[in-house]
Amino acid sequence: MTLEDFQRQVSGLLLRHRSLMDVLSKHVQSAASVNRAVTKAVTECGCIELHARRQDFRSDLGIEELKLKLDHHISGSLCENCRDVLKFELGRQFFYMSALANLLDIRLDDVLEQESKKCATLGIFNMT
Ligand SMILES: [Zn+2]
Repeated sequence: MTLEDFQRQVSGLLLRHRSLMDVLSKHVQSAASVNRAVTKAVTECGCIELHARRQDFRSDLGIEELKLKLDHHISGSLCENCRDVLKFELGRQFFYMSALANLLDIRLDDVLEQESKKCATLGIFNMT
């Protein structure tokens, strides 16, 4: 399935939330649900743990050294249940992002291509 196929499928399904305002609010709500699913994996299930601390961004380190040194602050890995919940919530978020793009006549294929080019051009500096 391509992004274009998915956008067409979403367009066919979206009856209840056709208004831009509805789609905007559902899009934000779905992002909050993704964060909530991650939080629950930490605080209720416990399959992953968060051990956050200050990152060491010393300027004398090269990019490869920094990649090794910088920590994602996660211990453990998602259990099957939490992974399923998170995939479900990411899918909903993707659904509403597609609906938003549909309403504003934006092709997600174009968005993906543009972002990929930006990543290729800016490299590691894209995410600072
Ligand atoms: Zn879990």
